[in-house]
Amino acid sequence: MTRDITKDASELNLGYWKRVAVIGETGFALPRCADCGRFHFYPRPACPCCRSTNVAPSAASGHGTIYSYSVVHRAPSAAFKADVPYVIAIIATDEGPHLMSRLINIEPDDVNVGLRVKVVFGFRPDPNLPVFEPEAKPS
Ligand SMILES: [Zn+2]
Repeated sequence: MTRDITKDASELNLGYWKRVAVIGETGFALPRCADCGRFHFYPRPACPCCRSTNVAPSAASGHGTIYSYSVVHRAPSAAFKADVPYVIAIIATDEGPHLMSRLINIEPDDVNVGLRVKVVFGFRPDPNLPVFEPEAKPS
C-alpha cells in the first residue's frame, strides 16, 4: 500500500515533504540555508544557525554514518509484525544534520555505530520516504 507522505504533514513542513517527494525520485534532499549555506533538519521556517528565513530543500549526498540505533523486537502495530526484529537508527548525514530512519538490508547483529550508510527509496509503506542501507555489504 502506498501512502501520501504529504497527507500528515503540518502546514510548517508541507512544502519540504512535497519537495522531498519530487527530489526523492532521483536523490535526497535536506533543508538548506541560502544565506549561510548550512544544511539542517528538521524543516523549520528559519535557519537555526543564522536565523535567515531564506531556507529551502536542497539536494544532499544521501550518505551518512550510524550515530546511534535501536533494534525493535516488539512490533508497534500489526503492520510491523512481519518486520521484527528491525533497526531504527539516527543517521549523521555527511552534510551534518542527524535524522531518524529505518535501516534495511542488514541483519540487526551486523549494525554498529559508525557504519557507513546510503539513502534508498522505494521501501514500503511509502516509497517516497528515505530509508537507509549499508554502503557496503557486511562481511
Ligand atoms: Zn543560515
